[in-house]
Amino acid sequence: GSQQVDRKVDSVCPFCGVGCLITYNVKDEKIVSVDGRDGPANHGRLCVKGRFGFDYAHHPQRLTKPLIRKPGVPKTLGDGPRPGDYLGAFREASWEEALALAAGKLKDLRDTHGRKSLAGFGSAKGSNEEAYLFQKLVRTGFGSNNVDHCTRLCHASSVAALLEGVGSGAVSNQVNDVEHADLIFVIGANPTANHPVAATWMKNAARRGAKIVLADPRRTEIGKHAWRTLQFKADTDVAMLNALIHAVIDEGLVDEAFIRDRANNFEALRENVKGYSPEAMAPICGIPAETLREVARAFATAKGAMVLWGMGVSQHVHGTDNARCLIALVTVTGQIGKPGSGLHPLRGQNNVQGASDAGLIPMMFPNYQRVDDAGAHAWFENFWGTPLDDKPGYTVVEIMHKALAPDDDPHKVRGMYIMGENPAMSDPDLNHARHALASLEHLVVQDIFMTETAWLADVVLPASAWPEKTGTVSNTDRMVQLGNRALDPPGDAKPDLWIIQQLASRMGLAWKYEGEESGVAAVYEEMRQAMHAAISGISWERLQRESSVTYPCLGEDDPGQPIVFVDKFPTDDGRVKLVPADIIPAAERPDADFPYVLITGRQLEHWHTGSMTRRATVLDALEPMATASMNQADLEAMGLAPGDVITIRSRRGEVAIHVRRDDGTPHGAVFVPFAYYEAAANLMTNAALDPFGKIPEFKYCAVKIERG
Ligand code: SF4
Repeated sequence: GSQQVDRKVDSVCPFCGVGCLITYNVKDEKIVSVDGRDGPANHGRLCVKGRFGFDYAHHPQRLTKPLIRKPGVPKTLGDGPRPGDYLGAFREASWEEALALAAGKLKDLRDTHGRKSLAGFGSAKGSNEEAYLFQKLVRTGFGSNNVDHCTRLCHASSVAALLEGVGSGAVSNQVNDVEHADLIFVIGANPTANHPVAATWMKNAARRGAKIVLADPRRTEIGKHAWRTLQFKADTDVAMLNALIHAVIDEGLVDEAFIRDRANNFEALRENVKGYSPEAMAPICGIPAETLREVARAFATAKGAMVLWGMGVSQHVHGTDNARCLIALVTVTGQIGKPGSGLHPLRGQNNVQGASDAGLIPMMFPNYQRVDDAGAHAWFENFWGTPLDDKPGYTVVEIMHKALAPDDDPHKVRGMYIMGENPAMSDPDLNHARHALASLEHLVVQDIFMTETAWLADVVLPASAWPEKTGTVSNTDRMVQLGNRALDPPGDAKPDLWIIQQLASRMGLAWKYEGEESGVAAVYEEMRQAMHAAISGISWERLQRESSVTYPCLGEDDPGQPIVFVDKFPTDDGRVKLVPADIIPAAERPDADFPYVLITGRQLEHWHTGSMTRRATVLDALEPMATASMNQADLEAMGLAPGDVITIRSRRGEVAIHVRRDDGTPHGAVFVPFAYYEAAANLMTNAALDPFGKIPEFKYCAVKIERG
């Protein structure tokens, strides 16, 4: 703005994985506005969240003192978190007392019940340095690999398929490479709401003649710019994608040279898709055979065809199979390893790519080195100078189950440290998850607000908001980007990196990270070594100079590689492994008692569990209350009008919520965003898991809908 400000501080937007670079304008120790910077992902643009979602940092409900639960107060959310009332259940404490209690109890549980009795959830909203140190604390201090974060709820299945198929979980081409695509295949994603600035590059491409194909059970805003919209029946992804692959093969449009030189297992794939002709699949997926053939032809013959996908693909019990089909589609058509093509799983959180790279996952050390690989295990034991567990740990949903395991289960989880995640809102089947969290003998929560999860804690540690710290985050495009501290944390709140180190030292770890900002540069440099080649050319000094560097980046002079897989894939033999997929139905299908399908997701104005955006004045004013979306025909059939209150009920839980009309919602389905604690969508969702990625089926379960 034109306002006089005291200082301008460069950072990165704290919300989505697009990774827009921003400048905070600070006056009187408050952020007064945010400007878009000319970053490689945003070129000065921002969406409504990035532009207006900043004053949560100054919200009066910020936690400013460590809290300790009063003895005998039951662990419950009651009617909701009722921020501000927590001094009935908690008392304020000094850092010394809170840290001693938090670490002391975790240590006791470990020493009494063994290393598997503890678990940690880090966060994709924290920096790479925080993610790296957090997983190091769990692996070396807690003593097991029970460490995970919301990637498990996001792209875990996509990453499982990508690691298996192409040897790397990250995107092959950056979003703005849509500029070079003739065809942009968007599936199971709503980029206008969830990756808004990325959506503007897609719309620009459409304006210059690229064909957008939107494949999604919901007809969302980007559909207005689409050449074809495939509004397929929810849960029929594999049927539809196999039909496209069938059509490519059937019509002689495969890239034979590419398959011969760069792919394995094509014969098995061809054999498998024989039964999936567009004609046979049309009644299953609800898309006319001729439309499927037309899209397959356009995809195969495009100079460049690029696939971008989101949670609509990944959050199914067949999420890994869905992604396998996408890998197969680009491989048989040779649409990968060149400009305007490839695979782009749109990352949700601003640092879900980086947190995963940094090792915040139970089966891998930093840079996806498997904990059960003897070489990687030995390397990290030497690097960290301590014995390490060589068994993969439990994942997010599994940890909730293990918290409720019988007392004689040697792997029962009894104590947890949760930094910046809100599983009491974000996990599936919340009644179960909240019960699990409340059942822990010791729960330490580190956050900036009294989140729903913090209400169930024994110790709450007040942390720093993103503008209050320096650190790096890695966006969906594999860009490592630096955010600088613009403000001090309020009251006694502390930087997360400091808190992790304090807990580590009280658990007996002798760490030393010296320097400004809790030693952030030293932590980054250690992480850079642990990541081996991937970011070896990205020094801290270079980040300070350039703000944003793309990896893989092998040397100080390497500009970074925006397109990967050009000559070979990072698999054992350098070739894609094609994996055929067959139809597996959703774990819970609609029936006479629960006739509707519940689809959950996000909306433009609110971010995930709402802890930040619902405390941002402008965003809260735009979308102040929970709403469910249904189409006009379904509303009429139930005698409902927009604004009416409905009760939506699954076998696991229910919410009362206002209904709005959205004709893009498919017949027989209701869409509910998961950001609202007063109508928490995840009370109803199903915790059934994809067997490979261990991701729950957030995108599909059966519900009934009643008026009032
Ligand atoms: Fe922030 Fe994403 Fe919006 Fe960019 S597109 S301003 S990164 S929320």
